[in-house]
Order: sequence, then structure tokens, then C-alpha cells
Amino acid sequence: MSESREIAIDVRAAVKRYGDFTALKTISLSIYDNEFFTLLGPSGCGKTTLLRMIAGFEDVTEGAIFLYGDPIADLPPNKRPVNTVFQNYALFPQMTILDNVAFGLEMRGQSKSQARKAAGEMLELVQLSQFAARKPSQLSGGQQQRVALARALAPKPKVLLLDEPLSALDLKLRKAMQLELKHLQRETGITFIFVTHDQEEALTMSDRIAVMSAGELQQLGEARDIYERPRNMFVADFIGETNLLEVSVDAINAGRATCHLGGGHELSCNSVEGVNVGAKVHMSVRPERLFMSEGPTDSEGLKGTVRENIFVGTDISTLIDLDDGPKFIVRTSNSDRGNKRIFEPGNEVYVNMEMEAARLLVD
Ligand code: ATP
Repeated sequence: MSESREIAIDVRAAVKRYGDFTALKTISLSIYDNEFFTLLGPSGCGKTTLLRMIAGFEDVTEGAIFLYGDPIADLPPNKRPVNTVFQNYALFPQMTILDNVAFGLEMRGQSKSQARKAAGEMLELVQLSQFAARKPSQLSGGQQQRVALARALAPKPKVLLLDEPLSALDLKLRKAMQLELKHLQRETGITFIFVTHDQEEALTMSDRIAVMSAGELQQLGEARDIYERPRNMFVADFIGETNLLEVSVDAINAGRATCHLGGGHELSCNSVEGVNVGAKVHMSVRPERLFMSEGPTDSEGLKGTVRENIFVGTDISTLIDLDDGPKFIVRTSNSDRGNKRIFEPGNEVYVNMEMEAARLLVD
């Protein structure tokens, strides 16, 4: 992503304390204009707190937040060009769908006819025009959430904050809405800041992701980068599934490390900033970047025994007890099975990895 892009939200060393409790510990990050940006992390890590500080519902204890270059500390929530979609969409039950969307516009001073015209356009955008005259109770959960989206988009905010907006929907609807949200963001060009604890959701939708835990930013990057190049144990473990091996680092040269396992077996992999020669660290490799063979394909193959095969729809996960380490998971795509031998429980097997795929992690 180019550095010359306009910055929509600039969070500079922002701290949030509630009494003695520090909910956010010195967070700095920039969110670009027209970006689909996601705050991702487990419950309690501070995602909502950061969102509420941007919205103006919480003040910033230390540091500052800038919106398109201007500090926002003194701007009350209703004066910020920012709108929020919440998990519980809280539509007015007695109003029609059209009036629900028009209401906020009238509150902002638009005439009734202006507001209704703009609301009609928003309902078109979320493909609900045919339901304009219905009441919220006559719509499904997914449709109601789309009304909430139309309502939040209607005043044309520069930034839309979305706090777990899909978590009340069932899996199938959630998946459909993920694509719709992404499409809406592209179509409107509004900067979306999306909060979720669901890593798959974050990977599907986001241009960039900020992974948070315990009030700290763990890693910020494009979805693919976060998945393929996690920098620490937390990120590797939280995003997707991974295999971890404890290794001792013998040498590092131009970003490549030579390591050995407890039993002496040598491996090479990518290093990461912060790992030093002599350290004991973890190496991470994703299950789909491993493959099995009957004999060793090179000196780095790890020997083990198949414990179990698990069918997970598009893939098979094979659980393997390594002779020289912990349990490993190898994932084979079903579409690839024709070319590969299926190993059964009890079979001896060698696990091989693409060197590029294995990475050291800082703790
Ligand atoms: P979730 O996914 O469960 O919503 P989150 O990552 O959004 O979690 P926050 O709601 O931002 O987490 O809360 C971060 C931490 O701050 C939590 O430990 C929470 O208990 C604490 N916290 C939030 N609001 C307050 C408050 N008003 N007073 C005291 N502590 C608070």
C-alpha cells in the first residue's frame, strides 16, 4: 500500500485508562482514506474501546487521534464525520424502513422530502427498496442489519465504524453479508473500520488488519501478510491454524535461520526481527504448506506416525505424532488428493515443508 495515500484516522500514542485499569497501552496506527480496515482480537483486547474513542463516546486518556489531519479531541460525537453500526441494530420498531433510514437525516436538518429521497437511494444501495414501507419486525435479521447499514451510510460519513455488526447473524447469512459489506465499501468509497474477534471474517474482508491483544497492537498489515508472515506467537496462533516447533537458533544469515530441534534434527527457515543466535524460539508453519511422503525427500523431513485423518469439507487434516517433537497437522486439499498418497492411521510418514513457509517467531 502506497505511503502517499491520504490518512483518514491517525491514532498517535493513544492510551485509555479506566481508573487503575489500562484498557489500551500506547496504540499508534494510521488508517487510510477509502480503506477497509479491521481491528481484530479476542474479547477484552480493547477493540471496542478504540472504536468508541474514534467515535467520541470515550475520551483519550493520553495521546491523540487525528481525523483527516485535525485533532478530534474537542469535537463532540455528533460533529464528527463518523457514524457507527452496532451489533444490535436498534431500529425504531414503530417506524417504516424508509422512515428509519430518513430519521437521522431529518435530525441533521434535512427537510422531510429531501431525507426520504436520500433514504430511498440508500435502500436501493443495500437492495431493500421493495421493503421500504414495511416495519422492522417484518424483515429477517440480515435485512434488518442492512437497514441499519443504510441508516448509518445515509448522512454520507467520511468514516463508518462497524462494531461486530454481523455477529447476530447465522453463518450462511454472515458470509453473504461479508461480501456485501466489502462491496458496499468499494462502491461508496467510505473508510470502513470494522471490529471483529473472528479471524476468518477479518481475512475475508479487510485491506489491512490490526491484530490486538491485551490492549496492545501485535501486528498491522495486509490480510495476506498477517497470515503468511505472523511476527509473534500470539498472531501465529490467533490467525488460522499453525504448527509450532521449539527450536534453538544456530545461525542467521540474510533473513534465513539455521536451527535444530531438541533431538538435534536440523532445519532452516525464515527469521524475523528480534530473534538472536543462541535463542530458543518457536518456528511456525501453516498446515497447508506441509506435505507428506513415504521416505525423506530431503534432510529436513520430519519423521512421524499418522494418528488420524479428519475431513473438513474442502480439505483433509492429517494429525501426525512427530518422533522428534509435538503433534503436527498437515492439510491436503481434496482437489489435490488424486495426486497424493493417502496415509492411514498407524502409517509411518515423513513431513516435509516448503522452506519459504516456515518462520521463526518472537514470543
Ligand atoms: P469484546 O470483543 O468482548 O467486545 P473488546 O476487545 O471490544 O471486547 P473492550 O470492550 O474494548 O474490549 O474492553 C477492553 C477492556 O476494557 C476490557 O477488559 C473491559 O472490561 C474494559 N472496559 C471497557 N469499558 C470499561 C469501563 N467503562 N470501565 C472499566 N473497564 C472497562
